[in-house]
Amino acid sequence: MNSGRLFVISAPSGAGKTTLLKKVMGRLDGVVFSVSHTTRPARPGERDGVDYHFVTPECFAAMIDEGLFLEHARVHDDLYGTSREAIVSQLARGLDVVLDIDVQGAAILRRAVDLPASHIFIAPPNLTELERRLRGRGTESEERLARRLHNARTELAAAAAYDYLLVNDRLEGAAETLLAIFIAERARGHRHPSGAPIHLEER
Ligand code: ADP
Ligand code: 5GP
Repeated sequence: MNSGRLFVISAPSGAGKTTLLKKVMGRLDGVVFSVSHTTRPARPGERDGVDYHFVTPECFAAMIDEGLFLEHARVHDDLYGTSREAIVSQLARGLDVVLDIDVQGAAILRRAVDLPASHIFIAPPNLTELERRLRGRGTESEERLARRLHNARTELAAAAAYDYLLVNDRLEGAAETLLAIFIAERARGHRHPSGAPIHLEER
C-alpha cells in the first residue's frame, strides 16, 4: 500500500530551492529526497548518487527506452529524469518523497501519474535578484547562465499551476513557510507530524 506523498518542488535556477530544501529537510522525519538522473556534468562538491546520478547521454537514452523514468525532460542544456522504481519503493515504505524537478516534469506528474502529490513553486523576489544569486553561486558559464535566465521567464509563467507559491525573499522566513507547508500537507493527508501514518483503530 502506498502511504507516502510526493512533494513536487520547482523553481527557476538560482531561486534558492536547493538552499531552502537543505534547511527544511533536516527538520522533518520520514521525508527523503529523490535523486534524479542527469546528463549534466557534476559541479564541484556534487557527489554521484547523492546530488544526482550522473550518467552519459547513451545511458539516459537506454533508460528512456526501458521505461525506467516516471518523468523526464530536457531542461536548459541537459536531460533530467526521475526513476520510477526509486519513487514507488520509497512511497511504499511510507516515506514522503521530495522531487526537485522542472516545470515540464511537474506537468507530466499532474497529467499522467496518479500518486498523491503536493506541488510547490519557489520564486525569487524579482529577476534582478535571480541573476545576482545565479552569478553569486558561480557555477555556470556565461552561456549557461544566459540560458537559465532566459528560461526563468517561461518557468515563472507556470507557477499558477502549483498548489503553493513561495517567494524566497528572506531566507529564514521562506524556510519557515516551506516547513509550514510540509507540515500542513502532511496533516491534510492524515499523517502524524513525524511522518508516520495514523491508524485510527480502537485500542
Ligand atoms: P537553486 O537550487 O534554486 O538553483 P540555490 O539554492 O543554489 O538555487 O541558490 C542560488 C544562490 O542563491 C546560492 O548562492 C544561495 O546561497 C543563494 N540564496 C538562496 N536563497 C537566498 C536568499 N533568500 N537570499 C539571498 N541569497 C540566497
Ligand atoms: P540543476 O542543473 O541546476 O541542478 O537543475 C536544473 C533544473 O533541472 C532544475 O529546474 C531542476 O529542478 C531540474 N531537474 C532536476 N532533476 C530533475 C528531474 O528528475 N526531472 C526534471 N523534469 N527536472 C529535473
